[in-house]
Amino acid sequence: MSDIVENIVIVGGGPVGATLALLLAKQGVAVTVLEARQQKAAYTESRALALSYGSKRILEKLSVWGSLATSATAINTIHVSQKGSLGRSKLQAHDYKQEALGYVLSYGKLSEALDAALASQPLVNFVFEASAEHIAHTYAHASVTYCHQGNSQTLNSHLVVLADGGRSLDEIAGLVKETKEYGHDALISKVRAELPHNNIAYERFTANGPMALLPNGASQNSNDFSLVWTGKKEYINTLLALSDAEFLAQFHEQFGDRVGQFLSVEKRMAFPLKLSQLKTTETPHLVVIGNAAQTMHPVAGQGFNVGLRDAESLAQTIATTAPADFGNQKMLDEYLASRQSDTKNGLLFTDFLVNIFSNDIVGVNGLRSAGLGLFDMIKPIKQHLVSKMSYGK
Ligand SMILES: Cc1cc2nc3c(=O)[nH]c(=O)nc-3n(C[C@H](O)[C@H](O)[C@H](O)COP(=O)(O)OP(=O)(O)OC[C@H]3O[C@@H](n4cnc5c(N)ncnc54)[C@H](O)[C@@H]3O)c2cc1C
Repeated sequence: MSDIVENIVIVGGGPVGATLALLLAKQGVAVTVLEARQQKAAYTESRALALSYGSKRILEKLSVWGSLATSATAINTIHVSQKGSLGRSKLQAHDYKQEALGYVLSYGKLSEALDAALASQPLVNFVFEASAEHIAHTYAHASVTYCHQGNSQTLNSHLVVLADGGRSLDEIAGLVKETKEYGHDALISKVRAELPHNNIAYERFTANGPMALLPNGASQNSNDFSLVWTGKKEYINTLLALSDAEFLAQFHEQFGDRVGQFLSVEKRMAFPLKLSQLKTTETPHLVVIGNAAQTMHPVAGQGFNVGLRDAESLAQTIATTAPADFGNQKMLDEYLASRQSDTKNGLLFTDFLVNIFSNDIVGVNGLRSAGLGLFDMIKPIKQHLVSKMSYGK
C-alpha cells in the first residue's frame, strides 16, 4: 500500500474538475489535478456557457464569482417562440423573485478565474501538460498513468475522479456509455444585432431545429449575442458555406425581427450533437463527473450546470466519508444515488425539448403553438421550468 498517494487524483482540470478541486481544498482535502492542456491555453476559448442561478451560487461560495461578475451577462428574461406560429412564452426573473434566471459567460473567462483561485490553494497540486494515458482500477485502488514533460509516471489513489470531458472513457474497463446521436449538428458563433439585447435570451424552434440566441455583452446596451443554431448536418454545412452577408440574411429570416437586422458574425464552427450517459460504473475507486458522465444537447443549457452539481455532490459525499473509505462501494453508491434523479431529469428535460420542437409531423406544429400559449398561462408549469433551469430541481 505504500505506493498509494494520499491525494485524491482528478483527471481533467476543465471547469468541472477545477471546481471540484477548489471545493475539496476548501474542505481541507489534498488533490492532484492532471490537466492535458498548457496553462492559459483555454483562456481564449470564446464558447458561451449558460450558467444557472444555482451554478453562480456555487462559484460565489468558492469566491470565484467576484472576478467574473463584470464579464458575465445576466439573463433576466427567456423568450421562447416558434417560427411560423403565434404562440410564444416569456419567463421573467422578477416574476420568480430572482435577480436573474441565469448568466452567460465565456469558457475562457471561467477557466481563467478558476485557475487563479486554484493557484492560491496549497492543497491543490495542479499539473499542466499532464496527459492521462491509461486508467485502471483494482479492489484496492485506481491508477493513472500519465505523460508529463516526456516522462511516463503512475499515480495510485484510493479515489480517482475522471473529469476529462469524456475523452478517455472508451478504454476504461467497467464503464459503459449509452449514446443517442441526434444526427444534428450545432453551429456556434457570435453575432451583433441592430438592437441591444436588454438581457433577454431567445430560444426559437424552427422546422430545421432549435436555435438559441444568448445575450453576451455585460452591459444591457450591448448588441452582442452568442448563437447556437442546430439542424441536420447537411443543413448546418450549407450554413457554414454561406458568405457572412448571406448567413446573416438567412439567420434573420429564421429568427425574425426581435432585435432588428443582424450586422456582423464572427467565425462559425459546428460540432455534432448527442445525448450520452454512463450506464454501468463497476469501477471501484473511480468516479466519473461532468461531461465525461453525461453529454446533453445545448438547447436547454443544462450540461455544464449538471456537471457543476456533480462536483458539488461529490465534494459533499467526500466530506462525510473517512479517508480510509474513499472509493469503496458504499461511498460510490452514495454519490451515484445523490446524482441519479438530477442527471436523469436533466437528460429527459433536454431530450423532451429537442423532440417536441424538432418534430415536424403535420398537426404537431399547431399543438406546439397552442402549447406555448397555454404554457404561458399556467403558472405552476412555468415555476417548475424556472426552478429546473435555475437550480436543476
Ligand atoms: C460548443 C459547445 C457549446 C456548449 N454550450 C453550453 C451552454 O450554453 N451551456 C451549458 O451549460 N453547457 C454548454 N456546453 C457544455 C459544456 O461546455 C460542458 O458541459 C462543460 O465544458 C463540461 O465541463 P467539463 O469540465 O466536464 O469538461 P471539459 O470542459 O471538456 O474539460 C475537460 C478537461 O479535461 C482535459 N483533458 C481531456 N483529456 C485529458 C487527459 N487524457 N488527461 C488530462 N486532462 C485531459 C481537457 O484538456 C479539459 O481541460 C457546450 C459544449 C459545447 C461543445
